Amino acid sequence: MAGEIEARMTERAAAGSVTPSEQHFLPLCYSRLSRPECFVMITSVTNNVCSLVARDFIVRPEESSVGRGYTQYRFPETGREEWVLFSTFIHYRFADDSKLRILQNAAWCTNCNRFVLAEEIPSIESLGNELYKTKVGDEETLRIWQFVSNGQPVSTRISELEKRINWRFVRVNPPRCLECGGFRIIDLPGGSEFRHPNTGELVMEVSSGWTDVGPWCADFTPEGDRFDEPSGERDLPRIPVFKS
Ligand SMILES: [Zn+2]
Repeated sequence: MAGEIEARMTERAAAGSVTPSEQHFLPLCYSRLSRPECFVMITSVTNNVCSLVARDFIVRPEESSVGRGYTQYRFPETGREEWVLFSTFIHYRFADDSKLRILQNAAWCTNCNRFVLAEEIPSIESLGNELYKTKVGDEETLRIWQFVSNGQPVSTRISELEKRINWRFVRVNPPRCLECGGFRIIDLPGGSEFRHPNTGELVMEVSSGWTDVGPWCADFTPEGDRFDEPSGERDLPRIPVFKS
């Protein structure tokens, strides 16, 4: 299998790298090949045989792996697996060049024909409620913030929530697939098992956590259109993100 992967990888590399945003990773199965700058991301596995190996990309030399959240799904009837990989480094970029981190959900995308990373667009009411609880010092709210923020001040959270509420008031588009930009998505219901929103097939969520993979950095308009140019993101974490 490694030979086949390497051959396909070389073929793809010759044609130009593919952006990580287009990938649907299987992080625990990725293979570091003889060329250290190249990784192969495998999108599905059936009976321990990689059924799709063309989704590779080149990790640029300046990029290092970071911790990224993932959820692993298995289809027990066929043994197939799909993964959704989240990113801390995808943002809305506003006219004044300020940014707001994009909230993300796992969803089914009709266009991509698989589970994808999609926008989460919370209600103004829920954001307002969160802002209120943060400002009044609700114990549980502050505890969660301390845990997820790595010790950043509460004022950072308040500023973020105020910015998100302002964005939410003007956002027109419904949530979109972050990988293809499409609107025909259905959020996955979550839980240990559920029915596939399209096929009705049984799906099991078998694991979730953090894994080391290449970062995905990208900027989107406030309406969810991806900017063509690179994000200019340079503040990759100097401290590790959470890992299991
Ligand atoms: Zn899509």
